[in-house]
Amino acid sequence: MTDTLTAFARAKTDRLDAERLLRTLIPTRRLDGVRVERGGRRLISFSCNDYLGLTHHPAVKAAAKAAIEVHGAGAGASRLVTGDTPLVSELERRLAAKKGAEAACVFGSGYLANAGIVPTFAGPGDLVLVDELAHSCIWAGAKLSGAQVLAFRHNDLADLESKLAAARAGARHALVATDGVFSMDGDIAPVGDLSRLCRAHDAWLLVDDAHGFGVVGEGGLGVRGLFPDARIDLQMGTLSKALGGYGAYVCATAPVIALLKSRARTFVYTTGLPPANVAAALAALDVIEAEPERVAAPLAKARRLTRALNLPEARSAIVPIVIGPAAKALEAAAALEAQGLLAVPIRPPTVPDGTARLRLAFTAGHPDEAVDRLAAAVRPWLAP
Ligand SMILES: *Cc1c(COP(=O)(O)O)cnc(C)c1O
Repeated sequence: MTDTLTAFARAKTDRLDAERLLRTLIPTRRLDGVRVERGGRRLISFSCNDYLGLTHHPAVKAAAKAAIEVHGAGAGASRLVTGDTPLVSELERRLAAKKGAEAACVFGSGYLANAGIVPTFAGPGDLVLVDELAHSCIWAGAKLSGAQVLAFRHNDLADLESKLAAARAGARHALVATDGVFSMDGDIAPVGDLSRLCRAHDAWLLVDDAHGFGVVGEGGLGVRGLFPDARIDLQMGTLSKALGGYGAYVCATAPVIALLKSRARTFVYTTGLPPANVAAALAALDVIEAEPERVAAPLAKARRLTRALNLPEARSAIVPIVIGPAAKALEAAAALEAQGLLAVPIRPPTVPDGTARLRLAFTAGHPDEAVDRLAAAVRPWLAP
């Protein structure tokens, strides 16, 4: 007799498997920003968020090693107890200055950041409006908040406005939350218009710049660079994509950051980021500031592909090739892999039902020749 927990899990995984939705981990050795080794084969990856190749940058690695030597391998406690290495205040100052904000708060990860930020500023009696395609952790934060949560149609200002008009008056506070660059579609939120709408309805705006910072906007400034005049109350981003490490941050006014540091549960009740991650992020910021040509490369590579395939011009380093059924996306990925190209298929519930896709991510180190080979390999899978 199996116990009921195991039976429950088995029934669920069997069903996911039948729908081709079961996820499995495939050991993958990343050799640098571009090449990976899987099952004894070398592949060129178009599935890493390491947009600038900084996971393997010598200066970034050296900074992490040096920080371990000086500060140890771990933070040892919550930042509010003894885990607040001086490096992290320096990182917060750097990030705030870059984003033109008074202050910043570094979190353990992007998921933790959004799961903590939203409930700090919204609770029962409040209203949270979330773009339907926003990242899972924004939704997690919205649900944890206990506020009334409404989805608005993707990048649809009219839908957002009508929902604000209907529900804003009944709520004490309202928060609008969206990705800046959408993680599975690569398109960009209309942040300028969102900011105007939020002001008109006295709503606060949270923009998640996980895929923007280091890639889009002047100097890789992210969404802040694309929409310099927008009021973005909470400028959230991660240290794990273009910056090549791990962790996350939010930039805002000093009182907003002070409240987060006292009240965000995913800040207060969790261990501080390891010093090596903080030092790596600082070194990554140095590289971004010193090498504008590196920052410009991912978008140029993405545009090389969209030009080759006659797709709408890429606006970020992410280009989705929507295939439809999950089984067919798996087939497409296998065909690419046979040609030495890694494009991991993204399936529901990460993307809406019926929109399984190859999510192509371009990085500074991708040779043009590899992008051209990818274009040729993807062409047969484009919708007619
Ligand atoms: C990756 C991602 C996150 C989560 O960040 P982690 O640091 O990986 O936890 C949050 N938001 C968006 C839009 C992301 O793509």
